[in-house]
Amino acid sequence: MKQHDAMYIDGSWRPAQGGGTIEVVDPADGQVIATVPAGSAEDVDAAVRAARAALPAWSATPPQERAARLAALRDQLVARADEIAATVTAELGAPPAFSKAVHAGVPIAVCGSYAELAAAYAFEEKIRNSTVLHEPVGVVGAITPWNYPLHQVVAKVAPALAAGCTVVLKPAEDTPLVAQLFAECVDAAGIPAGVFNLVTGLGPVAGQALAAHDGIDLVSFTGSTAVGRKIGALAGAAVKRVALELGGKSANVILPSADLAKAVAVGVANVMANSGQTCSAWTRMLVHRDRYDEAVELAAAAAATYVPGEKLGPLVNAAQQDRVRGYIERGVAEGARLVAGGPEAPLEAGFYVRPTVFADVTPEMTIAQEEIFGPVLSILAYEDEDDAARIANGTVYGLAGAVWAGDEAEAVAFARRLETGQVDINGGRFNPLAPFGGYKQSGVGRELGRHGLTEYLQTKSLQL
Ligand code: NAD
Repeated sequence: MKQHDAMYIDGSWRPAQGGGTIEVVDPADGQVIATVPAGSAEDVDAAVRAARAALPAWSATPPQERAARLAALRDQLVARADEIAATVTAELGAPPAFSKAVHAGVPIAVCGSYAELAAAYAFEEKIRNSTVLHEPVGVVGAITPWNYPLHQVVAKVAPALAAGCTVVLKPAEDTPLVAQLFAECVDAAGIPAGVFNLVTGLGPVAGQALAAHDGIDLVSFTGSTAVGRKIGALAGAAVKRVALELGGKSANVILPSADLAKAVAVGVANVMANSGQTCSAWTRMLVHRDRYDEAVELAAAAAATYVPGEKLGPLVNAAQQDRVRGYIERGVAEGARLVAGGPEAPLEAGFYVRPTVFADVTPEMTIAQEEIFGPVLSILAYEDEDDAARIANGTVYGLAGAVWAGDEAEAVAFARRLETGQVDINGGRFNPLAPFGGYKQSGVGRELGRHGLTEYLQTKSLQL
């Protein structure tokens, strides 16, 4: 496994100033596979200075040229897609086919979309007698989680660079290797020194130093709501822009007219993907009382096909495994009915959790309210559409969701009632240009497409 004992700052690989290291563990067997530098506040400071020094030239670089560099970056990611997939499998534990299709495939699509948007975007517009300039916000501090480790990096870095911003990235400590690989791709794509900088390190040390740094104009954070709250408070105190992509507890609402077998199969697959470590996962399945028993039977059978170690990967680390098993125990204790899986670890080695399905879940139960971040599905019954909407909207989150109906218009009408940032209709289809982000406590701001680009812009009006 390729690794760097240095960090990518100002266009070169430099050792950490404090000399500390972080071990990277393969979650499939618990073995240490690499060590990376534990960046300190001094390293963050050096990276922010480099990003600030690079800002005037990069922000003045014509958008067409920034687009060309992003296209070159996309080509680098394409050329190294197999290596990216193998790296994510090693440090996250994702099954190889999923790593290739999603962990490598999605960032390539997103990077490509920003190469096109940077070239096409109207960075200047006329409004009556005014010329409105859309200018880069400045230096961006990007802090990312481990669950989609390259996607979340690209979903911040690509639009920031397209906008003319420069970036300091602090990736999750569990998955720093794919971030190092990304930095190599940035370098090979001819992106000038200092435009993108990578500091690996611990959240409360390097992440905190980045979020609090005076030289950062915008903090873009994806991760837990608890840390997001702290970052929001720091940004508020400094009157600094902030974007937060946080947790979710999304509802998959199956209306009575839906193709039940398809809706349940796709719903279970959605929850089990990436071992349930997906912020937008449809972790609550809502089924009409009349079709409830049938749905529970179908879901339990579908979940049983996710064999740990084969179709189902491990969780990222032992703490997450403990946390998820604790939620399963809590579900049982609160009276939900286990119809697949359970809290016992399925394999001796590795951080696996059984694919688990709960029936007879009521809206106030902990497993129906809190984000579990594991392969755990809760199935809830509803009486009518008003009841379904009330249950679906009855959590503090609002990130994603799904609606199934026999008729697309019926599903769309129901989707309008959901307090959530994205809804898939009858299964939906991934669109890298569609805005993604949360209502309520799921976050502030949007990623992807032109909505994602505008997060990194500020406007100036010239009255003529
Ligand atoms: P986390 O909040 O613990 O960590 C996320 C990042 O923040 C990591 O890089 C970490 O090092 C850093 N960090 C931790 N403490 C920090 C601090 N005090 N100051 C600054 N940075 C700090 O989250 P996690 O456990 O890595 O990720 C799981 C969570 O992320 C889940 O809640 C999930 O829903 C959420 N998530 C949301 C989205 C989204 O787009 N909405 C996407 C993926 C994950």
